[in-house]
Amino acid sequence: MSKQVRVRFAPSPTGPLHIGGVRTALFNYLFAKKNGGTFFLRIEDTDQNRFVPGAEAYIMEALEWLGIAPDETIGKNEKFGPYKQSERKHLYQEYADQLINSGWAYYAFDTADALDAHRKEHEENGKTFIYNHHNREKLDTSLVLSTEETAKRIANGDAYVIRFKTPVDETLHLQDIIRGDVKFDTNLLDDKVLFKSDGMPTYHLANIVDDHLMETSHVIRGEEWLPSMPLHVLLYRAFGWEAPEFAHLPLILKPIGNGKLSKRDGDKLGFPVFPLEWKTDEGTSSGYKENGFFPEAVINFLAMLGWNDGTDKELYSLDELIASFDLNRVHKAGAKFDPDKNKWFNHQYLVQAADADLAIAYSPILEEKGIEVNQEKLTKIVSLIKERAHFVTEFWEMSDFFFVAPTEYDAKAKKNWKEETPLLMQQLIVVLESIEDFSSMNIETIVKEWMTVNEIVMGKVMQPFRLSLVGALKGPHLFDIVEVIGKDETIARINKAISIL
Ligand code: GLU
Repeated sequence: MSKQVRVRFAPSPTGPLHIGGVRTALFNYLFAKKNGGTFFLRIEDTDQNRFVPGAEAYIMEALEWLGIAPDETIGKNEKFGPYKQSERKHLYQEYADQLINSGWAYYAFDTADALDAHRKEHEENGKTFIYNHHNREKLDTSLVLSTEETAKRIANGDAYVIRFKTPVDETLHLQDIIRGDVKFDTNLLDDKVLFKSDGMPTYHLANIVDDHLMETSHVIRGEEWLPSMPLHVLLYRAFGWEAPEFAHLPLILKPIGNGKLSKRDGDKLGFPVFPLEWKTDEGTSSGYKENGFFPEAVINFLAMLGWNDGTDKELYSLDELIASFDLNRVHKAGAKFDPDKNKWFNHQYLVQAADADLAIAYSPILEEKGIEVNQEKLTKIVSLIKERAHFVTEFWEMSDFFFVAPTEYDAKAKKNWKEETPLLMQQLIVVLESIEDFSSMNIETIVKEWMTVNEIVMGKVMQPFRLSLVGALKGPHLFDIVEVIGKDETIARINKAISIL
């Protein structure tokens, strides 16, 4: 690749960053890093009606948490700044004028009411009103006014928009890195609005001008922008600029059925679709972070949504992703979002994580419950339970009995407490009391020996024993629990069970 790679993530701050947006950011990041290039973040906030306070900070925080922060953005290496379009407002008029002067754009004065009337009239005749070459010369545009008349109306303060004058009768053969040759018939395109008389550009104009000024080499974005590609390429032609290369990423699909995964799916179907929690007056949308996902796991599962390296490999660190990533291996077809698989990824990272680090992550949960425990013991506990966990947030439920004696006993499990059980448990206490080396393996050997010698069936002891310590028939290897909670506590719990059950 000869030219310097510069790619951008260009979200509109209309709300929290959806997981699809995060995937777009990630693929841009990976592509930049793979090619020794730059990844920058530009905030596209030209549509003031859709502006949501807090969204911009959220986007930056989310990328930061995920470990894919941009190299350049607002307040950071502002080489081509500002990185926020509302602060670049003064730039766009000149470019809109340039297109007017070169005949690539025209003024349109049609009022909202007039446009509505055209739409209605078309509908009545079973047609759809498209503002383009079919009718642009019959509408209220500068194409049918003299230069003087146009100037007069603008001076009079008539509201206008500037529209792109789409060329007619042309088939555009455009190249998309993922999709290959994509054809568009220019006669089917509408003359999009580029600029409004309030001095604001629309997305299309601002996006092209900025990508040019910020020296964007590749535009990597969601498939929903593919229909805009012909207009964008034509805009580059109109300005006489070299267009960047394009890559439109596949949609992320709902886990069941068809259709694009939407912002609402998450809470409807019970899994997060946002990196971080997002709170509004209407409620809270849950986030991966707050749900106990590791950022590395989120990155990993997002990378696999629409891409693989051609092997069966699924687990990648960020560095491995950078090394393997290839836009040419991104699929065209939509990628199904699979919440269970995402949990599986988190589980893999959890199992790989150092027990001591997981203990540190678990500590605040215990602190909140007023439980004090030394890190060494906690590390041991974590090592016993993590194989079965997906999240650190599940640890408490899986290990509460290490810290507090059961106060209730599982109703079903209680059926294992038979008439002869109290006597057996009393004998067990005697055996336990005699043990000097209170390590899991030694306790197990001695207890099992006692059972063999006395011809006691395993289940008759083991299940009530577990029930006494845990309150249910769950948890890791029983003798590991016994070792961790210690002799006195073990015996106290058995005695408690005898008196209650
Ligand atoms: N502002 C657009 C968005 O919200 C950017 C699309 C593009 O990358 O060109 O997704």
